[in-house]
Amino acid sequence: MPRLLATQSHVVHGYVGNKAATFPLQCLGWDVDCCNSVQFSNHTGYGMERVFGNITNQNDLDALLNGVFANFATDYDALLSGYLPNKESVNCMGQHYSKFKEKNKKLLWLMDPVMGDEGQLYVNEDVIPEYQKLTFSSNGLVDIITPNQYELEILYGKKISSKEELKQSLEELHKTVPVIVVTSCSSELFDDKGHIYCVASIKGEAPLVYRIPYIDTYFTGVGDLFSALLLDRIIKLYQDETATLKFADQIDDIINVLQRVLKMTKYYSKENIKSKMGSVIGMKDMELRIVESRDLYHTV
Ligand code: ADP
Ligand code: MG
Ligand code: MG
Repeated sequence: MPRLLATQSHVVHGYVGNKAATFPLQCLGWDVDCCNSVQFSNHTGYGMERVFGNITNQNDLDALLNGVFANFATDYDALLSGYLPNKESVNCMGQHYSKFKEKNKKLLWLMDPVMGDEGQLYVNEDVIPEYQKLTFSSNGLVDIITPNQYELEILYGKKISSKEELKQSLEELHKTVPVIVVTSCSSELFDDKGHIYCVASIKGEAPLVYRIPYIDTYFTGVGDLFSALLLDRIIKLYQDETATLKFADQIDDIINVLQRVLKMTKYYSKENIKSKMGSVIGMKDMELRIVESRDLYHTV
């Protein structure tokens, strides 16, 4: 059974970070070792007045990562990193993961540079240079990154206002990172209000664009589920060259899985169950394949 180490958040109530990634990965046959960067009562976006709990401080995070790498180093097939709240925690994860990856080049590291969304930063500002260092480090230890557009702009250091600029940013980041999946781009970039656009890019190949119907609700943890599924798919792709679903289809598949999860989540939400009025999504709307894709040069 493959095993991965995932360093990201833990919430007592709800599903984000490790709580969102673990069960799906277990269902896909993974042993999941969770290192929790924080332990909070709930996600900050749940509309609660307060979030309770603690950030794992640098000493504790360092001790945990030291411990698992000392005891189980030979067990890992992949590394996953997600939400880390401050400079010290990103730096600590980065040092441990880099050191381990340096010695185990075949192992895959998916780094989700979680920093914010839609123009809003939700980590300390001093996290930015840490993620830039990990992304642009010349030894290219990170295999896959999964920023949303805002995070891509932060890493690139410039706002992205056109498809041309998007291509340029990908080219720049591909100098050190082989696989980049921009999980969502603003609707303005593609001039299309009712859709979300995901752009998946392998170094040296034309980036692929996926047009995803927008579901008018705020979801949390969905980026974390995306990264977890992507890690699983990419490893299987690398390990099995005869795999029938290639990269483009794998991304398409992930997006379709997410659509179904989000529609089910909306269907079973308290609001939907309570009010049987308005735009209630019915099970009949949960058709399977709904994503349209092209490449960025022959765009949608
Ligand atoms: P993050 O939380 O990292 O910003 P994204 O917003 O990029 O994550 O979402 C990841 C994926 O989840 C998208 O590629 C899309 O497939 C799906 N998704 C997220 N929000 C919605 C939504 N409101 N409607 C439809 N799909 C969504
Ligand atoms: Mg988002
Ligand atoms: Mg994300």
